[in-house]
Amino acid sequence: MGRAHLEAHVACEVSAGDKRFPVYQLTLGNPDPRLPAIGFFGGIHGLERIGTQVLLYFLHSLLTRMEWDKSLHRMLQDMRLVFMPLINPGGMWQSTRCNPQGVDLMRNAPIEADSSVPFLLGGHRISSRLPWYRGIAGAEMESENQALCRVVQTELLPRSFSIAVDCHSGFGLRDRIWFPHAHSMNPIDQLADILRLEELFQQTYPNSRYLFEPQCAQYCTHGDVWDYLYLQAQQNKDSTFLPLTLEMGSWLWVKKNPRQLFSRHGMFNPLVEHRLYRVMRRHSVWLDFLMHAVCGYDKWLPKGPTRLRMQERAIARWYKP
Ligand SMILES: [Zn+2]
Repeated sequence: MGRAHLEAHVACEVSAGDKRFPVYQLTLGNPDPRLPAIGFFGGIHGLERIGTQVLLYFLHSLLTRMEWDKSLHRMLQDMRLVFMPLINPGGMWQSTRCNPQGVDLMRNAPIEADSSVPFLLGGHRISSRLPWYRGIAGAEMESENQALCRVVQTELLPRSFSIAVDCHSGFGLRDRIWFPHAHSMNPIDQLADILRLEELFQQTYPNSRYLFEPQCAQYCTHGDVWDYLYLQAQQNKDSTFLPLTLEMGSWLWVKKNPRQLFSRHGMFNPLVEHRLYRVMRRHSVWLDFLMHAVCGYDKWLPKGPTRLRMQERAIARWYKP
């Protein structure tokens, strides 16, 4: 099947107790750096299995289509796809949010919030026994994060256009699309592009239920690895890198099945099978849309005065409620 088109590399290996786990990097499509690319990331938090499942479901569907879908083959001649479906296998194996060192990989990048952050949740250096631990000040990033950064820096950032989508779960009743910043209340320069992308999605799939917002609209954090990579990308003004987080609203699954509250995985994952498949299918639509949007980015990315007007509208929408 389509596996012949898939290149697999071990981006790093991690230990948890006496077990060793590989962190895989899977690529498809044309490696030419002049072409756009999309990266799909998941399993940064070991308890949020659904993110990894959504990505594997989508990848499986792509590989199956590679056997017969000519249009998909043509598309992959014009773009690059990167998957890291399970960045924290040690955490998933031991059923913890953090990695085996007790570090929350989403609080671990060398970046400090410039606004106040919620106690503990915003990231702290008190103890690895508490959730949201950042790691030791001044230490290198954890090996999982170093691998993630290497993949983004080599596969996405050198291109004139790329999107990263990182799949999480566990926050709120609704499915959200979060974008930078997490470390600051200041709007990013790419708000216009994100507003346009949202419009494009709503026009293509009316009644879709994602709530788009900057992460800081909910809470600010220290050490967000996507902010860290976004700021690196900003050094090259000729390229656009949009890191998006898909935050699946798991509280709805709990509401429909309150027994989930008593399971450690229940707060983060759909436990009923028909709901699991519905969740995987629904988010596949979003991932597939993003892949197409990346391939045709020059057809919709706003430019010139239109872009300036959209940036103003976006600031009014997200920063001046
Ligand atoms: Zn998460």
